[in-house]
Amino acid sequence: MDLYSGVMNQLIEEFSQLPGIGQKTAQRLAFYIVNMPKDRVERFANVMMQAREKICYCSRCFTLTDREICPICADPSRDQKTIMVVETTRDQAAYEKTGKYNGVYHVLHGAISPILGIGPNDIRLKELIQRLEKDVDEVIIATNSTLEGETTAMYISKLIKPTGIKCTRIASGVPVGGDLEYIDEVTLLRALDGRTEL
Ligand code: ZN
Repeated sequence: MDLYSGVMNQLIEEFSQLPGIGQKTAQRLAFYIVNMPKDRVERFANVMMQAREKICYCSRCFTLTDREICPICADPSRDQKTIMVVETTRDQAAYEKTGKYNGVYHVLHGAISPILGIGPNDIRLKELIQRLEKDVDEVIIATNSTLEGETTAMYISKLIKPTGIKCTRIASGVPVGGDLEYIDEVTLLRALDGRTEL
């Protein structure tokens, strides 16, 4: 659909390939960009480039960060012996936003899904097990309450059992099938407080 000139079409095309952006929104964003002051567009483009170049995985918890060790893992006031396992960095951010969790995290970057062909080796599970060789008091499994999230939680709990480390699962205050990142803080905290031992 070539309704606009070449570069405009390209811009719309690029936007429309982003997640959740349909043709209409892509057009709106493209028009917004061409009407923005040049210096703002430049700043925006630069931040995108920098983010892409500098952001990597924390070597301890595998969250996205621009440092070797992320600020949470590097914070001596955080309880390094309590590890909350989440599926994504966005889930981690949801818990972090509550400001009430003082442990550290482990980001799996996905969940086990036999249907989609995602196995234990496709997510950061090995790395979690390696972390358990150090001094750990508790692993809180906060994967989503989807089929994949539950499968992953069961799998992890079986791996942890032999180590004798306390392994808990957040309560089902989190609605079934719900993504953690969309859930309000009160519900998240209730789920954390009501966690049960696996
Ligand atoms: Zn980290």
